[in-house]
Amino acid sequence: MSDSTTAQVSPSPPPEPPQPSNAFERWRRKLMLVTGLGVTEQERLADLRMHQTRHCEKTKEYLMNYSPAVVFMLKHLKESGCEVPKSNVLCAPCDLTRAGGFTPDPGAVVLCSGHFFSESHMEHTLVHELMHMYDHCRFKVDWSNLRHHACSEIRANSLSGDCRYTRELRRGFVSFSKQHQACVRRRAAMSVAANPACPDAKTAEKVVNEVWDSCFNDTRPFDEVCFNPIALFGN
Ligand SMILES: [Zn+2]
Repeated sequence: MSDSTTAQVSPSPPPEPPQPSNAFERWRRKLMLVTGLGVTEQERLADLRMHQTRHCEKTKEYLMNYSPAVVFMLKHLKESGCEVPKSNVLCAPCDLTRAGGFTPDPGAVVLCSGHFFSESHMEHTLVHELMHMYDHCRFKVDWSNLRHHACSEIRANSLSGDCRYTRELRRGFVSFSKQHQACVRRRAAMSVAANPACPDAKTAEKVVNEVWDSCFNDTRPFDEVCFNPIALFGN
């Protein structure tokens, strides 16, 4: 270094404070993150996200091994030539408007860590996204075609357990008649309306109505809605 002033005042590093044991340091750090004292909001959020993602990964692992509905879907995807490895089901933070997503190429599912209020909520979301994957694999869906998209949403919402009665109650919808179908219609139209190819919510509703009969009654790979393992074993 040519600047002698800098060289002169450059202090030697201060003596290191005595190092606390690792366990103590981890505990102190956790306490800071929980209380928010001594850490920034960003650090706190990062810690929360890490915790939520770890929890999501653990639940995902469990569901992919033991949920009858998830195992059923994975089996049928494999038999259709579209095996889904665990690495293609990802836990990640997302914006708050969604619980999961599906990307056709490569076939991957995202589970929005931190969004799930129960294990069965995550199970229904995973089955929903795997149903889109199944449709993509079997029927070569064109996702920019609103009729194709609507059809897959009707099937995914109807067969995944998304519209089970208890789930609907939680959302504040308490009418009893045709509750399941009304829920499927509403949720399918919402998803189609979010398709960039869809001009407005009215169009989404219209397209859902147009394809309703053939898609609602198409329960593949489940034989009938009542044989859906979510209906049989889900909580
Ligand atoms: Zn969907």
